Amino acid sequence: VKILGIETSCDETAASVITDEGEGEARILSNVVLSQLDEHRPYGGVVPEIAARSHLDHIDRIVDEAMDEAGVSFAELDGIAATGGPGLIGGVIVGVMTAKAIALTHKLPFIAVNHLEGHALTVRLTDQVAFPYLLLLVSGGHCQILAVEGVGKYKRLGTTIDDALGEAFDKSAKLLGLGYPGGPHVEKAAAKATNPARFKLPSPMKGKPGCDFSFSGLKTAVRQAAEALPPGPFKEEDLNDLCASFQMAAADSLINRCKNAIKMFKADYPEGNTLVVAGGVAANQTIRTQLTGMCEKQNMRMVAPPLKLCTDNGAMIAWAGLEAFKAGKIDDLTFAPRPRWPLDPDAPKAAFAGG
Ligand code: ATP
Ligand code: MG
Ligand code: FE
Repeated sequence: VKILGIETSCDETAASVITDEGEGEARILSNVVLSQLDEHRPYGGVVPEIAARSHLDHIDRIVDEAMDEAGVSFAELDGIAATGGPGLIGGVIVGVMTAKAIALTHKLPFIAVNHLEGHALTVRLTDQVAFPYLLLLVSGGHCQILAVEGVGKYKRLGTTIDDALGEAFDKSAKLLGLGYPGGPHVEKAAAKATNPARFKLPSPMKGKPGCDFSFSGLKTAVRQAAEALPPGPFKEEDLNDLCASFQMAAADSLINRCKNAIKMFKADYPEGNTLVVAGGVAANQTIRTQLTGMCEKQNMRMVAPPLKLCTDNGAMIAWAGLEAFKAGKIDDLTFAPRPRWPLDPDAPKAAFAGG
């Protein structure tokens, strides 16, 4: 089975062709990602209107590139998948319309993919991971722990009561004068720290029952620590230590919340033994290492996608589309893009940031 996947829900225009033949990254026949970073940089964040126009300008070329690189013709595809939400609606419309047009022209099935399900299932593209598994989804807009029972079957165990972790990385980076997106900048600075334990920052929710998260207090603590430094531009040494202290506090909070989640998960699914970490923040090496260590102690296996599949890309959408296709879940061309689209059916109506 071969699927073309299109991702346009935020600020990367991405397309990829994948197959379920072979193993590991060899299944990725192409994976083209065009970042709009330069276009949004002057504004210090993603501007929805600019994003939508940019997706429209580039999507045809990116799809052509993905097809060329894969060396596959439309006739050889089994289906076209596109992110159907959640995300910035202008971009989602561009991706969905493009996919529908290709599907109609070439008489191929169209599959609308939940962007979060793309993050959730990507590990199964490159690794052997069976259902059920426990999923820590840490991205720019989401911070959730879910039990993944199968394609389209999710049970939420915990979520953030305020900011997502990627958002906390981005906001902390911004107030420290680092670039956007903040995660990679914070990670780089933290790696150069000489005293990562220098700033005593809170590990939010640590010790509380359940597995909900909170990160806005940590971001505030970073701001207060920064304000307490000598006036004038930050010294690099201070910046590095503060980034490292932030990263450790965040990892510490994740570990504590995941320990509780593992207990809850094992009670419901005694056969489950895997924690999957996915979403942009899963690209963070310190967080990966800390979670791996915790899992070893809990008799769990920790799996995270290869670094370049953690942040948004087309391969994750193609793969989730392939899994849905194989499960017989094909969408009608009347599918309407969804700005909000929670993974779990019981999600509260006023869910956070799209989820
Ligand atoms: P969502 O998937 O929730 O809709 P999104 O698609 O915008 O949001 P992703 O692309 O999955 O988010 O992830 C982007 C986020 O990941 C940003 O907040 C970014 O700072 C963070 N991130 C990326 N790389 C790293 C890293 N190395 N360390 C920490 N955070 C990172
Ligand atoms: Mg992005
Ligand atoms: Fe994402």
